[in-house]
Amino acid sequence: MIKKIRTRFAPSPTGFLHIGSVRTVLFDYLIAKKDGGDFILRIEDTDQKREVKGAVENLTGILDWLGLKPNEGVGINGEYGPYTQTNRLDIYQKHIKTLLDDNKAYYCFCSSERLRKLREEQTVNKKAPRYDNHCRDLSAEKVKEKLDNNEQYVIRQKMPLEGKIIVQDELRGEIEFNVKELDDHVLMKSDGVPTYQFASVVDDYLMKITHVIRGSEWIPSFPKNILLYKDFGWEAPKFIHIPLTLSEEGGKLSKRHGDVAVENYKEKGYLPEALINFSVLLGWHPKDEKEIFTLDELVQEFSVERMGVAAAIFDKQKLRWINGEHIRRKSLEEFHKLALPYYKQIEKDLDLNEISKILHQRVEVLGEIPETIDFFNKLPDYDTDLFIHEKMKATKELSLKVFKEAISVFENIKEWSEENIKEELLGLVKKLDLKNGQVLWPIRIALSGKKFTPGGAFEIANILGQEESRQRLKIGAEKLT
Ligand code: GLU
Repeated sequence: MIKKIRTRFAPSPTGFLHIGSVRTVLFDYLIAKKDGGDFILRIEDTDQKREVKGAVENLTGILDWLGLKPNEGVGINGEYGPYTQTNRLDIYQKHIKTLLDDNKAYYCFCSSERLRKLREEQTVNKKAPRYDNHCRDLSAEKVKEKLDNNEQYVIRQKMPLEGKIIVQDELRGEIEFNVKELDDHVLMKSDGVPTYQFASVVDDYLMKITHVIRGSEWIPSFPKNILLYKDFGWEAPKFIHIPLTLSEEGGKLSKRHGDVAVENYKEKGYLPEALINFSVLLGWHPKDEKEIFTLDELVQEFSVERMGVAAAIFDKQKLRWINGEHIRRKSLEEFHKLALPYYKQIEKDLDLNEISKILHQRVEVLGEIPETIDFFNKLPDYDTDLFIHEKMKATKELSLKVFKEAISVFENIKEWSEENIKEELLGLVKKLDLKNGQVLWPIRIALSGKKFTPGGAFEIANILGQEESRQRLKIGAEKLT
């Protein structure tokens, strides 16, 4: 029987969802959904020092916003809960006991002072820090005595002392480790809380996870995890270690390079569709030229075979472009709804639908709307050098001449509409025997006070209205006189 695919996203609740993690959740989601499987959200909160209040709510909220809803997990529940590790401590206790009974793990009573000295010595001797197996062979009597004395202990995994271990990564193939390099690491801390290495294996097994998708920083843990599965006599899931995402400058993607929390992108007006689309391309390549996908399309198209192992670069320009493409894919009505909150600053009685019409075709990030359209509200003070455009052969002298004519053209338009404005201004171009740019460039500048605007002269004039447009041309003319 083919097993139902089950993947899990297992974040630690340390604050926010890192933009780089969108890729991990997304792959979890896609690998499960592609085959009608389940995607599970598990909270790995065993390192309580790092825990941040509200982080879980934050996380589920953001997953919701991204459209990556788990089938099971924290806040949703399911057959295999609890889904928060600190609510599973009794389960880990039971399983650690099995390992102790089978002599696959052992009590270690070494004091932190002893371990510190050991590490210091190893550093001085330029050796990799590792446990020296001091307690590995304590006799059963000795252990009992120490336990009876209430001595503090941790529990360590008893690793094979020599040989090689070969593990299989779905993207990288076989990876070989020399067992000597793996130390008897801690499975259970002195407070009875398990380490990631232990808890994640127990949980993945009990939650019937078929594919573990995690960052490549976990590759060094991989052989330890596989050995644990062996110790328990369990079949291990498939492992996919996804490559790092690097900043454009190289190196880890961190706060130094700007926004790292998904929330920041949300606030700036990135669409969830765009973050998903962008993230998938950081570790997977489409079969042809097509680069813009919705989540549903990805569920259809995705395949593990086209995932890669090369580190990906977080290219912010590309993210902007993808966001713009997804904006373009929205209907005008959908876009208008998304854009409305960004029109708050507009006090004039302007036709917001018309503004949406021009922005829909041009804007890349919603958060940039206020600054893009501020000139509608108030003409900014601008420099008359803007009227000069070499390629279009626009000059200040010519602009003044154009304005004098255009003011009366504007006055005489009977019905103020984009079409009529266009017809009349193109008529003016003919009458003055000029090129389009020589007339339309300065008019657009005079209407907006800006070099770059969403929309051209006709569209802007139409939105501003007859009186305001005429006024602005007059101001342009005055500036040039
Ligand atoms: N809690 C681990 C982390 O946040 C999860 C790694 C894994 O997916 O196994 O990095």
